[in-house]
Amino acid sequence: MSDHAFATRAIHAGQDPDPLTGAIIPPIYQASTHVQDGIGGFRSGYEYNRAGNPTRNSLETQLAALEGGHGALSFASGLAAEDALLRGILRPGDHVLMGNDVYGGTHRLLTKVHAAWGIETSTVELGDVDAARAALRPETKIVWLETPSNPLLKVVDIAKTVELAHAAGALVVVDNTFASPALQNPLALGADIVVHSTTKYLGGHSDVLGGAVIFGDDRFIDQVRFQQFAVGAVSAPMDGWLTTRGIKTLAVRMRQHSVNAQAIAEWAAARPEFETVYYPGLASHPGHEVAAAQMSGFGGMLSLGLASGADAAKAFAESTELFQLAESLGGVESLIGYPPDMTHASVRGTELAVPENVVRLSVGIEDVADLLADLEQGLDRIAH
Ligand SMILES: *Cc1c(COP(=O)(O)O)cnc(C)c1O
Repeated sequence: MSDHAFATRAIHAGQDPDPLTGAIIPPIYQASTHVQDGIGGFRSGYEYNRAGNPTRNSLETQLAALEGGHGALSFASGLAAEDALLRGILRPGDHVLMGNDVYGGTHRLLTKVHAAWGIETSTVELGDVDAARAALRPETKIVWLETPSNPLLKVVDIAKTVELAHAAGALVVVDNTFASPALQNPLALGADIVVHSTTKYLGGHSDVLGGAVIFGDDRFIDQVRFQQFAVGAVSAPMDGWLTTRGIKTLAVRMRQHSVNAQAIAEWAAARPEFETVYYPGLASHPGHEVAAAQMSGFGGMLSLGLASGADAAKAFAESTELFQLAESLGGVESLIGYPPDMTHASVRGTELAVPENVVRLSVGIEDVADLLADLEQGLDRIAH
């Protein structure tokens, strides 16, 4: 598959028709165990489904192909994937350096769970090369970055960060959830490992939780696969199948998400009600040039800072109709959220806190004129 373009790989990798019946879609192997032909006589290597399931394994083949990786592992959620990766690689005394607006749940996992096992974590403005260099320690094992970030859409130069981290002997892990592999491929820019919450754009239809770790080479996959097997936070067959189905339309969805978000960002930039528009597709965004160089589209996420403050932001988030008020992102339907009280409540009061006047939009693929009219009527409602 590796000589085919992205949209082709997304549809065909790991998706050979069923050899028994010719069914064009491989079946969902909804089973917990496999019959053995005599003790140890496994058919196609399958034994017990925590160790391997054909539906999950075909999703893993598809995921590796999306990022141009050496291999991939699929989990029950994005955080389960991150947890298995971190436990597979880190040892007590190791340090993780993270960008200062990574996903709040990732920060919570490291500082509230892994800290008890002797893992140190600190955060830095990764886009500031001098600050990032100064924050690296001899114990730094992983530099963890997210670009564009959540919810402020900060952009970090992946290749530059890789150069800096590798020179200090650290690995680079990129959480590529926001961009999706349709728009950005961190492994091709030198990153060692990519993680995804497949709950978001890869699944794409707000109907399944999942996570993935994708490896650039063969150094770490066995130790993380051991965590997957020994701890067991695997994706279930039906969840894996829904994710596979979502991935097949990823390329075309991401194009439309990007077109709609760009139109909304340009509309918002001309409205006095918004003091800040956080979207890397705007030439005025500080990360625009880097994003244009390392992404093939700017994606469907944008945040808006309301000029009249926190109360206006909350009222606006409760005033839209097509943009439904909910956590999460990346589905075909548009969502709006108030990060300080919702997705980012766990980082309030920390160095990752989000400005109180910010709402976050996950722009869906509905007709953009309808989306703009919805935002207009939301502004009208809070003005009165
Ligand atoms: C949602 C999300 C996660 C966590 O994934 P879950 O599937 O919710 O466990 C990690 N990183 C980013 C950027 C996310 O948006």
